[in-house]
Amino acid sequence: MKNLTIIGGGPAALMLAAQIDTKKYRVRLCEKKKTVGRKFLVAGEGGLNLTYNSSTEELIDQYSPKSFMDPILRDFTNEDLIDWLQCHEIPTFTGSSNRVFPDMEMKPIEVLKKITDFIAAKEIKFNRDTTWLGWDKKGDLNFEKNIDKDADIVVYAMGGASWKVTGSDGLWSEPFKKRGIQIQPFKAANCAFEVDWNPHFITTHEGKPLKNIALTFNDCVAKGELVISKFGLEGNAIYALSQKIQNKLLVEKNAVIYLDLKPTMTVLQLKEKYKKSPRSKVTEILKKDLNLNRISIGILKHFTDKETFSDPEKLVQILKSIPIMIKSSGELDKAISSLGGISLSEIDANFQLKKLPNSYAIGEMLDWYAPTGGYLLQGCFSMGAVLANHLNGLNTE
Ligand SMILES: Cc1cc2nc3c(=O)[nH]c(=O)nc-3n(C[C@H](O)[C@H](O)[C@H](O)COP(=O)(O)OP(=O)(O)OC[C@H]3O[C@@H](n4cnc5c(N)ncnc54)[C@H](O)[C@@H]3O)c2cc1C
Repeated sequence: MKNLTIIGGGPAALMLAAQIDTKKYRVRLCEKKKTVGRKFLVAGEGGLNLTYNSSTEELIDQYSPKSFMDPILRDFTNEDLIDWLQCHEIPTFTGSSNRVFPDMEMKPIEVLKKITDFIAAKEIKFNRDTTWLGWDKKGDLNFEKNIDKDADIVVYAMGGASWKVTGSDGLWSEPFKKRGIQIQPFKAANCAFEVDWNPHFITTHEGKPLKNIALTFNDCVAKGELVISKFGLEGNAIYALSQKIQNKLLVEKNAVIYLDLKPTMTVLQLKEKYKKSPRSKVTEILKKDLNLNRISIGILKHFTDKETFSDPEKLVQILKSIPIMIKSSGELDKAISSLGGISLSEIDANFQLKKLPNSYAIGEMLDWYAPTGGYLLQGCFSMGAVLANHLNGLNTE
């Protein structure tokens, strides 16, 4: 039997612990906070999307790099996750947006408890309040507390670098860098982006949602919702483009996204509706004939001059593609997830660190991206399950 130490207590680590064979491994899980799964609980505050209900192909399409996530998501798919949750008395349902939630009756804390109770029943030891600091001179694990350093296999699952309050602070990256492991700089993903609103617009519309819109950036289209904030724009449509916008902001001062207020209608259809209107006031036509609400009309006015607003041809064109200049991204700490972390070139096909044999890394510690909406948790759970399967297949005699 070998000693396995898992460092970190987020979804990736918990799935690994739940699926590891304790007849082969003596397992302990070291978490710096007093409780595990703090970010998982934060995720639950706004509606916990455990995964996304789609075909495996469609699921994989959402991840980047796709080639890295492809085998992981095929080995432990969204259906596998839903079945696994069901087997552990965590029933789920698919919402109208295809996001998968725990059953209505079940709070995120109860989901977490079901998982941790199952792990504890396998006699896996939880070392809570135990911070990993790096390695000592001999290369052994170095913890803030004086605990046993003995580990045949170590799995690092310390998360990304947003929402520090949950324990995921990215401080682990320094000792890794010292060991010569390449770390890509952390950046906010699934985050807010800065827009220069005029004061009148933001006073009237702050906090309001723009629903059923589409955003385009460099030929990528994201449908969904936007929320107007003092800082700029939030919401799943812009989150989905966050990685691409961030890449642009790395090389240029700003990025322009294009907002379509009527993604279900073509310019031609809109023109027809406009022409047929018995009304003469532009705002009334927009409201009553094109069914635009106050916030949509407000944003249209914000980004058009008077001449365009009074020219039906131009107005209809622009409402399908309003250019909005993005000046910067929101704070990393407030982002739903982070880009960056351990370069994927540092690990082999089984998550093993090439420079540190018998050491593995999974979850948001690695440099991959997915939009919010269940894809992040699915990615982390899949990595935990796939690594457990690999470790269970090793000879531990
Ligand atoms: C507001 C918000 C909403 C979200 N909503 C969703 C959603 O609905 N659906 C979705 O799919 N995803 C969502 N996410 C993202 C999701 O929660 C994360 O992607 C996921 O938790 C990452 O899992 P992980 O196991 O990699 O790491 P984490 O969950 O970040 O866990 C890492 C753990 O490691 C511990 N740790 C860190 N450093 C050390 C150390 N030195 N020593 C010991 N322990 C350490 C941390 O305390 C932490 O408990 C949301 C995130 C946020 C912030």
